[in-house]
Amino acid sequence: MRYNTKTMRTLREAVRDAGVNGRALGHFNVSDSNQLTAVAAAARETGLPAIVGLSEGERKFFPIEEARLLINLYISRGCELYLNADHTYSLEKARQAIEAGVDSIVIDGAALPQEQNVALAAACVAVARASGRDVVVEGELGYIGKSSEVLERIPEGAAITEEAMTSPETAKAYVAGTGIDMLAPAVGNIHGIIAGGQPKLSIGRITDIAHAVGVPLVLHGGSGSPDEEFSAAIRAGIAIVHINTDLRLRYREGIERGLKEMPDEAAPYKFLAPAVEDMTRYVAQKMRLFAAGRAG
Ligand SMILES: [Zn+2]
Repeated sequence: MRYNTKTMRTLREAVRDAGVNGRALGHFNVSDSNQLTAVAAAARETGLPAIVGLSEGERKFFPIEEARLLINLYISRGCELYLNADHTYSLEKARQAIEAGVDSIVIDGAALPQEQNVALAAACVAVARASGRDVVVEGELGYIGKSSEVLERIPEGAAITEEAMTSPETAKAYVAGTGIDMLAPAVGNIHGIIAGGQPKLSIGRITDIAHAVGVPLVLHGGSGSPDEEFSAAIRAGIAIVHINTDLRLRYREGIERGLKEMPDEAAPYKFLAPAVEDMTRYVAQKMRLFAAGRAG
């Protein structure tokens, strides 16, 4: 199927269609155009939609405007790709990202007092609605750490106990008070990979929040979780799964492998190829898993 940016369904529609069918979309963070090439190759190979994410740090190295142009090119070649401004901590940065052409934005006030989190998210929704485009806004509840790396231990203050996780009541009030389109709750998920083992996701909590809020739910910190847990989370109501740390590790290992196998090679297109190939394979596998949804 060929798409162009005018006729392709919007991200809002893609998420709704996935929800109707009990599926989820994969969200893959990238730091450069080689990683974006890998996500596009996986989207082409699987024929499935994918969301490309750029955090504030990633955007500094690979600006949204550049990613947008490349994604438009991949779309014209038949890939269904969307661009998300991942974890955005200020209204100013949110405004810049929306102007630069993202399809969605993660406004992250999870570390703020609840009232300020609500105010920041509501202000971001207002900017998105005034943009003249259909920009989807995702809000964050509950601290799940900030670092997409391999960590020695669970970050301090992370909401991984049943008491600390996002409650269905808080989630419901937050969605009503902000007007956000999607919600990322804390349900046992953590950014980064914990060396001693990943905490378990609370499938029961995902189910309860999904029933309470009535908007699609987004799972952050997908790296390190086993495939069965993803499938259970999608059955319980997760519509988008974020993967970052696993991709970073694969990319780095691929570069190291390329350099080791070709110690005298100067051509980047040769020594970088294994990293792009590894990442493509990994992203395609995750896309198929998330798309299998209830059947997975
Ligand atoms: Zn995240």
